[in-house]
Amino acid sequence: MAIATNLGFPRIGAKRELKKATEAYWKNQISEAELITAGKDIRKNNWLLQKDAGLDHIPVGDFSFYDHVLDMSALLGCVPARYNWDGTAITSDLYFAMARGNQTAPAMEMTKWFNTNYHYIVPEFERIDNLKLSSSKIFDEIQEAQDLGITPRPVILGPLSYIGLGKIKAANLTKKDILAAIKPLYGEILKRFKAMGIEWVQIDEPLLITDISDEVRQAYRETYAWLKAQSDIKILLATYFEDLGSNTDLALNLDIDGLHIDTKRGPKQVDYIIDNLPKGRSLSLGLVDGRNIWRSDLTAAIELAEKAVESTGSSRLMIAPSCSMLHSPVDLDSEETLDVEIKSWLAFAKQKVNEIALITKAVNEGVEAIEAELKDNQAALQTRKTSARIHNPDVKKRASKVNSEMSQRKSNFAAREKIQADLYKLPAFPTTTIGSFPQTADIRAARAAYKKGDLARDRYVETMRKEIESVVRYQEEIDIDVLVHGEAERNDMVEYFGEHLEGFAFTKFGWVQSYGSRYVKPPIIFGDVSRPKPMTVEWSRYAQSLTNRPMKGMLTGPVTIMFWSFIRDDQPLSDTCRQIALAIRDEVSDLEAAGVTMIQIDEPAIREGLPIHQDKWAAYLKWAVECFKLSACGVADTTQIHTHMCYSEFNDIIESIAALDADVISIETSRSQMELLDAFADYAYPNHIGPGVYDIHSPRIPSEEEMTALLKKACAVLKAEQIWVNPDCGLKTRGWEEVRPALENMVKSAKFMRREYSAIKAA
Ligand code: GLN
Ligand code: ZN
Repeated sequence: MAIATNLGFPRIGAKRELKKATEAYWKNQISEAELITAGKDIRKNNWLLQKDAGLDHIPVGDFSFYDHVLDMSALLGCVPARYNWDGTAITSDLYFAMARGNQTAPAMEMTKWFNTNYHYIVPEFERIDNLKLSSSKIFDEIQEAQDLGITPRPVILGPLSYIGLGKIKAANLTKKDILAAIKPLYGEILKRFKAMGIEWVQIDEPLLITDISDEVRQAYRETYAWLKAQSDIKILLATYFEDLGSNTDLALNLDIDGLHIDTKRGPKQVDYIIDNLPKGRSLSLGLVDGRNIWRSDLTAAIELAEKAVESTGSSRLMIAPSCSMLHSPVDLDSEETLDVEIKSWLAFAKQKVNEIALITKAVNEGVEAIEAELKDNQAALQTRKTSARIHNPDVKKRASKVNSEMSQRKSNFAAREKIQADLYKLPAFPTTTIGSFPQTADIRAARAAYKKGDLARDRYVETMRKEIESVVRYQEEIDIDVLVHGEAERNDMVEYFGEHLEGFAFTKFGWVQSYGSRYVKPPIIFGDVSRPKPMTVEWSRYAQSLTNRPMKGMLTGPVTIMFWSFIRDDQPLSDTCRQIALAIRDEVSDLEAAGVTMIQIDEPAIREGLPIHQDKWAAYLKWAVECFKLSACGVADTTQIHTHMCYSEFNDIIESIAALDADVISIETSRSQMELLDAFADYAYPNHIGPGVYDIHSPRIPSEEEMTALLKKACAVLKAEQIWVNPDCGLKTRGWEEVRPALENMVKSAKFMRREYSAIKAA
């Protein structure tokens, strides 16, 4: 019999119970005992839901109060010295201090979990002599599940992925040393699982889908052979997010009992793996997409499962989601106001669990056993294929006519630079901001009331116009050179555009954990994207009408809109992106026609789409760059295109950033003390660039001197004529009491630089 399994269920609760509990605990509103109970309730719901749906193997250890990588650090006792840990069991307060920092010690670093929007807490390796099992969480949870009559399959992050995701913080410490120190702890964990009556353990090794060195490969072979010898517990090694690529044979031949593969993001590996699976090995097929919200094609999934059965035999086949459902919203049933037709195309975690059970049932009992469900599934897929709400012939036709000329500015940058200098007559080191100003409680209240229908359109417009006027006057007053309207009308830089475009749907409870208690609710791109009418023009036109200084129109770029949404799986990403690009292109033209001739197109997510395997980068970057340019290039040479990027590594895609050919790019750099600029300098980045001088993620107010020091650093690697002066990112999360002095210092710093610079020029 094939086995119905899961790799992980969302831990946040259908109504964000985890967020409520942890945040209340942080504010001292509930006790630790109440927090623990809240966690227990979520786990119990999740387990029983999966059991009732018919899953045979139910993950335990997927729940976390903050992050599962941090849980692993707690389990192994890998605690940085700055938290003054006494070496006893790790308490909730110590755990949260590592995640969020406390009065005396800053938080551990956080970074993106592979190519997802989930952020994990980066392990820090300072010493290895004190590592030891230091948390009973996973063992307690196994017991808890067993008490509820659940057959748990504990899930832990594998040793090589754990080390690979961490950072070494001590000289002389090597990854090899760390592995030698934690391997016995993993052995101990497995033995304890076994003693608790566990049959299977799921060890996640997503590092295996990345390009690893021969040394790491060898470490994989040795580690798993060693672990196998410690206990006769069955090991399911889980890989996901891409195909195994050049590590396929390595994974196939490790000393393990089962291998999980992602058939959704790694479809090409499936046949080879089925054909080459060693005898006696179980195969876990990730057939249901764990990171997107589309209903599965059950017929296709069953076919693939049956094909696998021919080589594994049914008892060695596990039916699974492609990856943990951590990345998917919890329950579609909560969406009472979502359009019924769109809803019929979707599946959230709870529905995905049902799909897994159905596929398994069909494999075990024949498709007749799920006849009614299969019919319903096929009907839904059929309407999705043909629905006029998805397929807009005009959009498809227009996209098919896109040509390379449309992605080229009329003149090259050198020519544009001159034309724009003559036209705008900006001083050296021009000052600007990234777009948003503080979103005050009043602004939020007005937006919410308008959305609910409690505030009439003209009253709302009036309120927003007042806000725009006040930020315009403020910027003039402190003498900023290029103004922004402040984005008061926007709840979110993607949702705002989604709401104004055709082809997007929105959920009420479709939350996904981004990090800790921060969740996002991405819009769903379900159909061909078009722009029924201008989206930002009235606000920007109004803002420009208030001032003689240039006003930047403010747009989110096509790549970012796409990657911060749930994406269609029924056409190539590049097609979806191109459609969004055309909609933004129209917005750019309308802004230009309305006299807004500086236009910023934000692309902070451009690196997010980067495939994991480097050999696929070029293809991605080619269409991503082309889509940005398609949105930006339909303008006159006099129109100045800005772009903005932040909070990711740009060094390795600098060529593509240059290829965007934006007249001006603003980029986050202050935290790294301008380190990021080295890439721009090495590459001799030709266009204008505003390296951020004000870290907007911190409440600290930088002084004039500090910002000047950063600008001088920038001058050392860039030409002064290239440099703009701006914060790292938008100011919407900050308060006015911080923003005012910081921006005033920023303008002073720019003016200082101007004087220095003209003195140098004169000399
Ligand atoms: N224009 C946006 C803002 O200022 C940019 C935000 C971002 O890069 N994340 O808020
Ligand atoms: Zn930003």
